[in-house]
Amino acid sequence: MKKIQMVDLKGQYEEIKELVNTSVIDVIQSTAFINGPEVHSFQKHLENYLSVKHVIPCANGTDALQIAMMGLGLKPGDEVITADFTFAATVEVIALLQLTPVLVDVEPDTFNIDVAAIKKAITPKTKAIVPVHLFGQCANMDAIMEIAEAHNLFVIEDNAQAIGATYTSTDGTKTKAGTIGHVASTSFFPSKSKNLGCYGDGGAIFTNDDDLAHTIRGVVNHGMYQRYHHDVVGVNSRLDSIQAAVLNAKLPHLDNYCNKRREAANKYDEAFKGQEHIIVPFRDGSDDNHVFHQYTLRIVGADRDALAQHLNDKGIPHGVYYPIPLHNQKAYQDSRYNEADFPVTNQLVKQVISLPMHTELDDEQIEYIATTIIKFVNG
Ligand SMILES: *Cc1c(COP(=O)(O)O)cnc(C)c1O
Repeated sequence: MKKIQMVDLKGQYEEIKELVNTSVIDVIQSTAFINGPEVHSFQKHLENYLSVKHVIPCANGTDALQIAMMGLGLKPGDEVITADFTFAATVEVIALLQLTPVLVDVEPDTFNIDVAAIKKAITPKTKAIVPVHLFGQCANMDAIMEIAEAHNLFVIEDNAQAIGATYTSTDGTKTKAGTIGHVASTSFFPSKSKNLGCYGDGGAIFTNDDDLAHTIRGVVNHGMYQRYHHDVVGVNSRLDSIQAAVLNAKLPHLDNYCNKRREAANKYDEAFKGQEHIIVPFRDGSDDNHVFHQYTLRIVGADRDALAQHLNDKGIPHGVYYPIPLHNQKAYQDSRYNEADFPVTNQLVKQVISLPMHTELDDEQIEYIATTIIKFVNG
């Protein structure tokens, strides 16, 4: 059996090697390292892929979130509601801009932000909601957009983990994740298996709003709309031409990457069928709502930490995303939080374990991983 990897960047590279190599060398020979034609063409390609009016490339997914919030003109003290169970970047930029993060619990099945908890957390100071499409599965966007409309709030989708996913509304309309809210952010970070990763750092902001897109194009570039005229406080956040060249080579494969991940997920699901200590990831019935950025199990009635140790011993990589609720992180504690408001997150942090998930997993590996886990949790 091939050695099992959590992510397999090498195998993916081998498939597109010639195109990547020539396009990266082209950038080097052109010396247009910044704002080269590749950046513009990638922007256009991604706009087409997502059917969104504006893609604004930037340096990474954390910047993308921050810039989206700056573009919306959120002010210190404005409350921004987001999920307690996500990567820290989401809450970090809220705090950094001196907005007030309001963490709320998530749903036990999808791990995504709980709509009832959002409703409960709204105050006159609430200005925005940041749903995270966690592990590659779309949050309940119909309900979130409805609440946002009723309370006049912005919706910023943190789409770092779900690029390529398609959300199906209750009326049957299909929309790409990251094009439903007022604005969205994504990341092209290569490891931790972001579904569309470049070979360094990268990110982008998406919106259908022409005015907001214009504002954001200035924010990413030192607040300039005209050279050396700084109209707003901005940042310097660019996707470099080499990364754009890599992304141009990979974007045509994104759907195939997502399909391969789904195939691996289906095989895992099948292998874990009927296991009383293992809850497999929730599916909403549509095939395209989940792109399996992570394949995350809940271990119930067995010891997750002991399982993790056992997998180490067996050479099976795995991850615990996330081990500590954000509301318990030192940086984000707030006396207004009450443990009783986070029953689901508090439980998930003890139950979740993410298995190897990438486009190069083979049947033998999946079988070995599943059998090892099943044996252990029933032992
Ligand atoms: C990875 C990630 C980010 C940050 O992306 P970077 O490119 O690493 O800055 C933000 N939010 C979520 C949910 C992520 O998974």
